[in-house]
Amino acid sequence: MKGAVLYGPRDIRYVEREGPTIIEPTDAIIRLPATCICGSDLWPYRGIDPVTQPTPMGHEYVGIVEEVGSAVKNIKPGQFVVGSFFASDNTCPICQAGYQSRCVRAQVMTSIGTQAPLARIPLADGTLVATPDLPSDDLIPSLLATSDVLGTAWFAADAAHVQPGATVAVVGDGAVGLLGVLAAKQMGAERIIAMSRHAPRQQLAREFGATDIVSERGDEGVARIKDLTDGLGAHSVIEAVGTQESMLQAIRATRPGGYVGYVGVSHGVQLPGEELFFAEVHLFGGPAPVRRFLPHLINLVCNRTIDPGKVFDLTLPLAQVAEGYRAMDERRAIKVLLRP
Ligand SMILES: [Zn+2]
Repeated sequence: MKGAVLYGPRDIRYVEREGPTIIEPTDAIIRLPATCICGSDLWPYRGIDPVTQPTPMGHEYVGIVEEVGSAVKNIKPGQFVVGSFFASDNTCPICQAGYQSRCVRAQVMTSIGTQAPLARIPLADGTLVATPDLPSDDLIPSLLATSDVLGTAWFAADAAHVQPGATVAVVGDGAVGLLGVLAAKQMGAERIIAMSRHAPRQQLAREFGATDIVSERGDEGVARIKDLTDGLGAHSVIEAVGTQESMLQAIRATRPGGYVGYVGVSHGVQLPGEELFFAEVHLFGGPAPVRRFLPHLINLVCNRTIDPGKVFDLTLPLAQVAEGYRAMDERRAIKVLLRP
């Protein structure tokens, strides 16, 4: 089969690569009607995460089960399934506590590469959640969004302890930040402040439920959030970037006693201890245990309560994956859907 393979900085190719086979008896093979490019794929694409050998790309997926290994009991060929970027057994003590991204048997899907027509899914019974029926084609982008960006945003809002009536600020206007707005709205936030300087992203933030937009960044952005909250800061802040500036912006925009949920993959973030001590805010985050939220999110999509697939503002054939990466790298697209 052909799939997306990264050869070096800004060198992604649609090339012949090995097709998936059942390796472990707990594996399943799925056929993907669509796949996508993640903001986190841009770290290796830009050479910030070094690439030492040709690397298959992609970790978000939905699909129809084609084949299962001999030990798979619950997942059946013909089902439509969604999974997260960490395969997990969903039975170990860490999974049972709801932290499937840190499962003792976790396998990261970036090692498999789902920007391809077929993919091997490890630990299929634990990893995959089947939809109640075969979804209509128009639901596929939203189901694909649950696989990572919505699941991650939902975890961020949960980690930021979003409560009904709360004021929430969102740092980052990529797909995760925008869906953080949607998650906060679903959790009953009254005021949602989206930090964005890009008009199309501001517009989508408003569609998802943002009540205020702050276009300033850094200290100025923090000052604007203080202005909007009687000088106190937000109850809950979602951090969806992963840089030093965005993390400090999130902490400084949070009121004492408030919560920061951070899901931007941390790159070079160093927190000043003394400032953290006196900030007196809760910090929680990490790689989202998307599996915990998948049944609920799939239900919200299938009954058309939410439409997270709106974050896909560019659809391309998988063969044009290189153009998809360029569009996201240059911020011409929020998120790119690829059709094998
Ligand atoms: Zn586990």
